[in-house]
Amino acid sequence: MKRSIVGFHQDEEAHWVADLDCGHGRHVRHQPPFVERPWVLDPVTRATHRGDELECLRCDALEWPPGFAPYRRTPGFDADTIPAALRTSHTTKAGVWAKIHVERGRLRYRLLDPPRELELAAGDVGIVPPEAPHEVEPAGEVAFYVEFHRRASPTNED
Ligand SMILES: [Zn+2]
Repeated sequence: MKRSIVGFHQDEEAHWVADLDCGHGRHVRHQPPFVERPWVLDPVTRATHRGDELECLRCDALEWPPGFAPYRRTPGFDADTIPAALRTSHTTKAGVWAKIHVERGRLRYRLLDPPRELELAAGDVGIVPPEAPHEVEPAGEVAFYVEFHRRASPTNED
């Protein structure tokens, strides 16, 4: 998924990492002659690249980001009480990750762009990246709830 740069920090080896609005980091190294990104070395030119979009492969891999904490959860739903809005395409807000906790039965969890379907069983957790269109569908009896997480630690700012 495309994500926006919200800040930068340096890793243990002093390589520059762009902080993305999803909570993941992506290296933006200046390593001549292999990769040329002289702009990353200077605070002024670096700042002009805030807001740039980069492809985040960690979001595509449904990799949970560091530094996020739960702040809200839905009531428990079953096959009869599941809100219609969850059965059709919807998204979380920017910067909000969700975990679908299946307590009983089975739930089909579909990511729509690109299309992918996961069948979650009791004890499974479905990872929902920010702003990723998705929907769920009970596969027979099911009991589940959704837990929302946001960044607990501040973004690295220059
Ligand atoms: Zn990401």
